[in-house]
Amino acid sequence: MITDGVVKTSCALCTGRCGLNVHVRDGKIVKVEGMPEHPISRGYICPKAETLPEQVYLPDRIIHPMKRENGSWKRISWDEALDTIANKLKENKIKYGPEALMSFIGLPVFLDGVPGWMMLRRFLDVYGSPNYFSVDSMCYRPRLVLYYLTMGQLMRPEVQNSKLMVIVGSDADNSYPPMANLIRENQKKGSKLIVIDPRKTALAKDADMFLQIRPGTDPALWLGMMNVIISEGLYDGEFVEKHTIGFDMLAEHVKEYPVEKVARITWISEEQIRTAARLFATIKPASIYQGFNSLDETTSGAQSGRGIPMLHAITGNMDIPGGLVPRMMLKAVSNVRLEHMIKGRALWEDKYPLMYKLWGRPMGEGQMMDLPDLLQSDKNPIKAMVIECTNPLMTWPDSNKVAKALKQVEFIVYMGQYMNSTAELAHIFLPTQGPLEKSDFCIDNRITPYIMMKKPIVQIGECWHDATFWLQLAKRMGYEEYFPWNNSDEFIDYWLEPSEVTFKMLTEEKPEGMPLEMKYGTLLKNGFPTPSGKVELYSETMWQFGYDPLPTYKEPYESPVSRPDLTKEYPLILTTGQRNILFLHSQMRNAPTLRAKCPEPLADIHPETAKKYGISDGDMITISTRRGSIDIKAHLTEDNFPGLVSVPHGWVEANVNILTYTRPADPVTGVPNMKAMLCKVEKKK
Ligand code: SF4
Repeated sequence: MITDGVVKTSCALCTGRCGLNVHVRDGKIVKVEGMPEHPISRGYICPKAETLPEQVYLPDRIIHPMKRENGSWKRISWDEALDTIANKLKENKIKYGPEALMSFIGLPVFLDGVPGWMMLRRFLDVYGSPNYFSVDSMCYRPRLVLYYLTMGQLMRPEVQNSKLMVIVGSDADNSYPPMANLIRENQKKGSKLIVIDPRKTALAKDADMFLQIRPGTDPALWLGMMNVIISEGLYDGEFVEKHTIGFDMLAEHVKEYPVEKVARITWISEEQIRTAARLFATIKPASIYQGFNSLDETTSGAQSGRGIPMLHAITGNMDIPGGLVPRMMLKAVSNVRLEHMIKGRALWEDKYPLMYKLWGRPMGEGQMMDLPDLLQSDKNPIKAMVIECTNPLMTWPDSNKVAKALKQVEFIVYMGQYMNSTAELAHIFLPTQGPLEKSDFCIDNRITPYIMMKKPIVQIGECWHDATFWLQLAKRMGYEEYFPWNNSDEFIDYWLEPSEVTFKMLTEEKPEGMPLEMKYGTLLKNGFPTPSGKVELYSETMWQFGYDPLPTYKEPYESPVSRPDLTKEYPLILTTGQRNILFLHSQMRNAPTLRAKCPEPLADIHPETAKKYGISDGDMITISTRRGSIDIKAHLTEDNFPGLVSVPHGWVEANVNILTYTRPADPVTGVPNMKAMLCKVEKKK
C-alpha cells in the first residue's frame, strides 16, 4: 500500500475496464482520473469512477463479518465466521452429500478479476460440488454457447476497424462508453453506422440508419437480411465455399423469411431491411456489435448467437481486421481446476446439456433459472448457498418468487460490500474488498486484447479479498494439500507460471497494463475449432440434441402476436434493463453524488401512448403485468415507439422484476425473457 502518490489500475465498476490514475494522500484515496495511455479508455472515465473516492468510504459499507441471530445482525470475527461455515459445510457434506452446496456469484466477481472465482471453482471441486452458477444464467452465456456451436469459440466484432458498424441492442453511451467513443471516432474517419434498437438511443440519433425494432424479434431480422444477401447473390462465395458447412440448407431455410414477412414481424420497413442487408454485404469490413444481454434475454434471443456470426460468415467478415475476430489469450496458464474430484452431476445438466458441455469441452457453468421452483419443491437438494456480490431479489425475474424460494435455504453465506434484500436473508455476512482494495489479474478482449495486474491501494476495515476467504476456508476444511498458497498473489503466480508474464513483471514494469498481440487469419488458415473445422451454418450437434439445426425465430411468449387474448387487458409492450451511466444494475444508488444526479427511476413512454391513458410527464403511474404491479414516475419521450414502455432495473423504489418472469424462454440455454412482455399502465390512483 502507498500513502502518497498516484497508482495505475483498471476500473471494475462496469464492464468498460477503463484505465484509472488513483491519487492517494495520507493513505486515503482523494481523486480518480482517467489514464491517458490506457489502450481501451484512453483517458476517459465516467461519473461512476469519478465518485470512487466517495464510494470506497461510504458509511453504510459493511466492514466486519456478521452473523444473523434472532433476526438481528451481530459483529463476529473472521475466525468465528470461518469456523461456523467450515463446520456447517462439513456436517452438510456427511448428511446430504457435496452437491447440497451451491455457489452463486454476481458480475462484480468477474469484473474484479481472476483469482476470486478461480479459487472458488477449485474449492467446489475439492469439496465435490458441481453446483457453481452465476449471473450468466441470464446474461452473456446464451450467446457464448451459440457462438461456440457456430464457430467453436467466442469472437468479438473489431468495431474500431470496421467501415460499417452495426450496433444492436446497446445504448453504449450509458453501458459501455469506451465503445461509444470509438464508434464516434470511427464515424469521423468515414465509417457508416447502423443502429438497431427499440429505443432511439444517443447513438441511434447519430447513425446513418436507425432500425427501430420490436423487442424480441431480432432473430427474424438476421434471417431476413440473410435472405436478401443470398437471394441477391451478395454473399462471399469464396469464404462460404472454403470456410462454412450447410450453406445450401441455410439458403433454402431463409426463403421462409422473405422481407415482407420480416417487416411484419419486426415492425421495420421492408426498404430499411433491404438497405441494411445490402450495405452489410457490400461494405467491407463490417461488423455487428451486440449489447451485453439485450438480445439474449428474449424467447428466441439466443438464436442471435447463431444469426449474427452467420451474417459475418456469409459476407466474409470473419477473422479479418474490422470483422468478427478471435479473442487473444495468454499462451498458457496452469489449470487450477480439479474437476476429477467431482462425482455428481450439476443441477439441470440434463435439461440444458449444451450449456454445460460441448464436444466434450466443459462450457464453464450451467443454467440456474429453475432454482426458485426447485427450492420450493419437496425435492430441494440445496442445503447451503454462498452468494457473492449479487442481489437476485432485485435483478432476477419475478422477485417475489425468488424471495420465497431463498427463504427455504437452511444456510446462506453472503459476500459483498453492502446489505441488500438478498443479504438480509443470509445467516453470515462476509465483507469483501472493492476494486481498489485487492490485487487482481484482468484480461479484456472486448475492444482490444489487453492484460493488467492490479495492486491493492487501500485497506478498508476487515474486508477481505474473496480469494482469501476461499483459501482460508479451504485450510479450515483440511484441504491444505490442494491450497498450498499463503495469499492470492502466490495463487496468481502459480496460475501464470506457464505463461509469458509474471505478477512482478506486470506490476513493476507494466503498471499501465500490456496489450496482447492481435493475430488475424489463423482460423482461416488452420480451421475453426468445430467438429467440421468450419463455421457450422447447419449444426449437426444441435440436430443431435433435438434443437433446430438452423437459426429460427419464435415470437416472445407474451406479445401482441403470440397472446392476442391478453392484449385487451395488457395492450402495451414492456421492455426492461435500460442502462444509466450513473449506476450498474442494482449498485451505486447509495453514492450521494450519483444519486443526486438521478434521484428516482423513470418509466419511458411515448407521449401519444401517455395521452391515451391521461398521463402527463412526471405523473406517478402504475405498471402491471400478469405477475404484479409497480408504481413509478412517467417520463414522456419520443425515443420510444408508441405502445412501448421501457423501465430501468435495479431500483428498490420500483423493482421492475416484480413484473418479469422466470419461465425459461429459450430451449437451448434456458434464459428468461426480460425484454419483451405485455403490460398495462394507468395513472396512479
Ligand atoms: S465506464 Fe465508468 S464505470 Fe465503466 S469501467 Fe469506465 S470508468 Fe469504470
